Amino acid sequence: MTTANDRTVQIAANLAAVRGRIASACVESGRTPDSVTIVAITKTFPASDVRILVELGIVEVGENRDQEARPKAALCADLPLTWHFVGQLQRNKAASVAHYADIVESVDRAALVGALDRAAGESGRRLGVCVQVDVDERTGPGSTLGRGGARPVDLPAIAAQVAQAEHLRLLGVMAVAPLGVDPREPFDRLAALHGQLLVDHPDASMRSAGMSGDFEAAIAAGATHIRLGSALLGRRSTLK
Ligand SMILES: *Cc1c(COP(=O)(O)O)cnc(C)c1O
Repeated sequence: MTTANDRTVQIAANLAAVRGRIASACVESGRTPDSVTIVAITKTFPASDVRILVELGIVEVGENRDQEARPKAALCADLPLTWHFVGQLQRNKAASVAHYADIVESVDRAALVGALDRAAGESGRRLGVCVQVDVDERTGPGSTLGRGGARPVDLPAIAAQVAQAEHLRLLGVMAVAPLGVDPREPFDRLAALHGQLLVDHPDASMRSAGMSGDFEAAIAAGATHIRLGSALLGRRSTLK
């Protein structure tokens, strides 16, 4: 049996290892470690793990499914956390997500912007938004290789819409690297797209890229936020 204390020791060791790897990656690219924010992705793990992460200094957590995130966020309502929503979002879930999420990283189409803006307004909140971009060069009509996100060509229009929405704030961009390719290319592509976006939206400085398997490459390509699940919490028991 794993006791609560064992779990704390385990997560603390994982976090220490991750921080070491972040520090090395930052040295290699001439960055300071405090320029990289860890977003702990807690999907499939219990609220008790979120509490442990907070004890260890994590303040940003993320989830990818509304039906799991909503009750977990409620159980952690007493904690000083910033909740990120990072999964595919259906328009009819916008109202639910707007209740607990502080940042929605995965806005990938115009139809979602209006729905989130209304929902945030009705909740009396202002939501941070990243536009998720599909940085897989191989994605084309009929392709299923992409891992979500707007087409790069649509990024400026979606970003402009977010920037104009009363209850939303454009924070930046997010991407998931395609499977089976060297992640440096897609992360460099995201960096270039982000650079163009910053011309019109100089405050939209957030660049969320990199997961447990590729965060060093993301740091080299200038990620400001890395989304870490398994590196912190271990392997998930279900594929999500
Ligand atoms: C699950 C998930 C992550 C974290 O994945 P790991 O490989 O476990 O670090 C990051 N981003 C998104 C969008 C996810 O769904």
